[in-house]
Amino acid sequence: MDYREKADSVRHRILRACERSGRDHNDVTVIAVTKYVGVPETLAILEAGIRDLGENRVQQALPKVTAIKEPVCWHFIGNLQTNKVKDVLPHFQWIHSLDRMSLAKELQKQAEKLDISVSCLVQVNISGEQSKSGFSPEEVEPFLAEISEMARLQVRGLMTMAPIAADPEEVRPVFRGLLELRDSLKPVYPELNHLSMGMSDDFEVAVEEGATMVRIGSILVKP
Ligand SMILES: *Cc1c(COP(=O)(O)O)cnc(C)c1O
Repeated sequence: MDYREKADSVRHRILRACERSGRDHNDVTVIAVTKYVGVPETLAILEAGIRDLGENRVQQALPKVTAIKEPVCWHFIGNLQTNKVKDVLPHFQWIHSLDRMSLAKELQKQAEKLDISVSCLVQVNISGEQSKSGFSPEEVEPFLAEISEMARLQVRGLMTMAPIAADPEEVRPVFRGLLELRDSLKPVYPELNHLSMGMSDDFEVAVEEGATMVRIGSILVKP
């Protein structure tokens, strides 16, 4: 398991994408999506200098987050059932998949109980694929207005999942769409600094289009 080499390669590719697009590579965080592996591999990934880890299933994540004592910033990136919020909140600093009002309400309620606040990204279905969850672009602003009273939710940006494509160039418009949506909301919601977009097959294009968080699984964590 040469995680150091894999991590260096991802970081190098991000650096190049930043150079091409005139961005600062320090503005891009690599989230290693550890859903494919267990605790030993996850520890090895941390040793390779990665500090942000992502999981998409509560059941698989909990044994890992409780076993790992190293300082980690955990990101919940998958569909989050309302009844699982109380299990997730104590461990995860970021929720990337805020995709409905009932989830916002439950996050607010449980965060209040724990006396914490939680950083959230609103999930947007830019591509319009039926299979993808998330708000349509038009729904985002009214949703942000509705949850603005929920003091425990710190909405810090937007997240999207691009369709699977043979050529990552095909999904550039999806990433650009998220960026443009964010830019249009920013005057009223200046705290929307983050764009979580890009995975193993398309993260360079996502970085060129402004991603601040890339969620990388296969090419980074698979041994
Ligand atoms: C699995 C997953 C990823 C990582 O995908 P790879 O193609 O393996 O890099 C990113 N985001 C979400 C929401 C995922 O579920």
